[in-house]
Amino acid sequence: MSRARVLILNAALGPLDYRVPHGMAVEPGSIVVAPLGPRQLLGVAWEAERMPSDAEVGDNRLRPLLAVADVPPLAAPLRRLVEWTAGYYLAPPASVLRMCLSSTSALEGARSVTEYRATGEVPARLTPQRSQALERIGERQGLIRELASVADVSDAVIRGLAKVGALEAVEVDIDSPYPAPDPGHAVPTLSPDQRAAADVLVANVAARAFAPTLLDGVTGSGKTEVYFEAVAEAIRAGRQSLVLLPEIALTEPFLKRFADRFGCEPVAWHSGLRSTQRRRAWRAIANGDALVTVGARSALFLPYRNLGLIVVDEAHETSFKQEEGVHYHARDVAVMRGKFEECPVILASATPAIETRQQVALGRYAELQLPGRYGPAEMPAIEAIDLIATPPERGRWLAPQLVAAMAETLEKREQSLLFLNRRGYAPLTLCRTCGHRFQCPNCTAWMVEHRLVRRLACHHCGHVMPTPRACPECKEEESLVACGPGVERIADEVAALFPEAKTAVVTSDTIWSPAKAAEFVGRMEAGDIDIVVGTQLVTKGYHFPNLTLVGVVDADLGLEGGDLRAAERTFQQIRQVSGRAGRGSKPGRVFIQTHSPAARVMRALVTGDADDFYAAETEVRRDAGAPPFGRYAAIVVSSEDRECAHETALLVGRSAPQVEGMAVYGPAPAPLAMLRGRHRYRLLVHARRALDVQDVIRDWLGALDWSAKARVTVDVDPYSF
Ligand code: ADP
Ligand code: ZN
Repeated sequence: MSRARVLILNAALGPLDYRVPHGMAVEPGSIVVAPLGPRQLLGVAWEAERMPSDAEVGDNRLRPLLAVADVPPLAAPLRRLVEWTAGYYLAPPASVLRMCLSSTSALEGARSVTEYRATGEVPARLTPQRSQALERIGERQGLIRELASVADVSDAVIRGLAKVGALEAVEVDIDSPYPAPDPGHAVPTLSPDQRAAADVLVANVAARAFAPTLLDGVTGSGKTEVYFEAVAEAIRAGRQSLVLLPEIALTEPFLKRFADRFGCEPVAWHSGLRSTQRRRAWRAIANGDALVTVGARSALFLPYRNLGLIVVDEAHETSFKQEEGVHYHARDVAVMRGKFEECPVILASATPAIETRQQVALGRYAELQLPGRYGPAEMPAIEAIDLIATPPERGRWLAPQLVAAMAETLEKREQSLLFLNRRGYAPLTLCRTCGHRFQCPNCTAWMVEHRLVRRLACHHCGHVMPTPRACPECKEEESLVACGPGVERIADEVAALFPEAKTAVVTSDTIWSPAKAAEFVGRMEAGDIDIVVGTQLVTKGYHFPNLTLVGVVDADLGLEGGDLRAAERTFQQIRQVSGRAGRGSKPGRVFIQTHSPAARVMRALVTGDADDFYAAETEVRRDAGAPPFGRYAAIVVSSEDRECAHETALLVGRSAPQVEGMAVYGPAPAPLAMLRGRHRYRLLVHARRALDVQDVIRDWLGALDWSAKARVTVDVDPYSF
């Protein structure tokens, strides 16, 4: 009699035991279909000794497994990663496992899938519903249900369109191979610094051992070119590489750049893929055919068959921290994956995080430096503009020096970039008669005016409303005023100052797909844009040789709020955006508008002395016992019922164990006291590095019983304070 322990894809359930029917081959890692009550669920067979079950069932009462999927079993290194991630981030193993199997349709038997697309022929008499659906579908191709959801109609409408010849079926072979990248396609000549760094990375790939390395090079030093050499080595060895990018908007330029170097595009993995693309990519990754995958953080948990290299580009980016579901940090999980897979991990950054620098200082990570820009490009000259000494004109946001520099740049037919990390027109709208402010009904947040679409929007839950003409409180008309600037307002100011200039606003509202990003890049390269006004979306990755001026509209913005990483993040962000200036043969200039030019972070930006700044920041952290010297974990209690959330938070607080080296603060209302209609309270756990704080929290929360109306989530190493 053979039994198997199975981790079912259901976060509420622990591992369950099943009988393996005669003739079925199940080993640890096998992906299986298991019965649960009347349902059939996916699961993964696991080593019983590594996944204790608290409900041991006798052999005679076991239910049989129904099927084994026809894909390779999840390999041991990935199983170890699932266990580690679940343990470290205090998440149910099933939730982590779900990320590995994120394309469960890839497990279905069929090798070919039917998608539909427009034929271009529109039958003479179409119902208004069908004709509108056809319009919404446009050039898209997809499964019936995907097109139905795009067009917001039922599946029957899509089938009807196919029947009358407006849509045609396209058979897609989900096992059709991807082209193989050619490591010798266009080999660059590296500078001596680049060569030295690349040699080390290539040797690491050849050694097939865990080797975490920080590739620390100023913006424009050619880090990508350097780690491409390591990717080339992995391709030559027939091993897979994974390149993680912090933002899906960066995928498109990356694909192009990769194709220039290797002759074809890599496999892309991100939330924008159609289900068929996802299915094909998952299978190719699992059977080892996908040699290079580039993706957002979710690509980290895919079942690579023989991973030989992991690269985390822009490794300091905070968007690698997942803030929903399993609260993991992709940079840290990438290093763990490299450890389990026994392969090198490259963290590339021009502004490495203090945590990463500390690992280098401790000798756990190696460091490779690229001190200068590639080719003739010099680092830009950086100047602070004191907004108190030389303020902008009344009702304006751009100081005279910056405006003058923009005029000179336009004159020379070069491009400028104004950076302000705030979407929309104004962050706050209020009534000047009665003082009414527009607040989101679901969140503790102000509604942000988006003038281009005439709406107020909540940036936390997505709630939108039309911008009213009159104040809803005092009914006064024409009395609403916008407070403070967002990028749209800056774009208005630019249009007033330079009516002849071509301006583009670049935010997640305007660049919401890889295609939009590609269009923006095309317009920049063609010189079709003179001035870009953008959020953090434009601070990284892009390389525009004719962009020579960068203006930081409000350098103090990120310092508000008292977050422990505020100064570090401000430094990183402004260094990154400064790095967009003067990347070609023409020198770049950067102006930083600030109310406190004497602040340490502003001085460090101007002098370019990163080491001094980091040394001081590191001391502040050490004194406070903050990461990387100590550890925080946030316990957030939420409920739609405020009373229930508060009661439960008090219960959690009262039950906090007394542990040497650990302190518990709170509960207090969370920084966003209400989010998406849920009231939130937070307890902050502060612990010594040496303490196994996860273990303490697991026992502590495991012993508690709380109302089903409350949810308790733990965020280990939280980012938002
Ligand atoms: P970083 O990622 O360090 O900011 P990039 O890798 O984007 O820098 O390189 C900056 C620019 O210099 C890119 O246009 C890149 O193609 C070019 N470049 C860097 N190294 C080389 C090289 N060895 N040969 C040719 N072009 C290079
Ligand atoms: Zn909201």
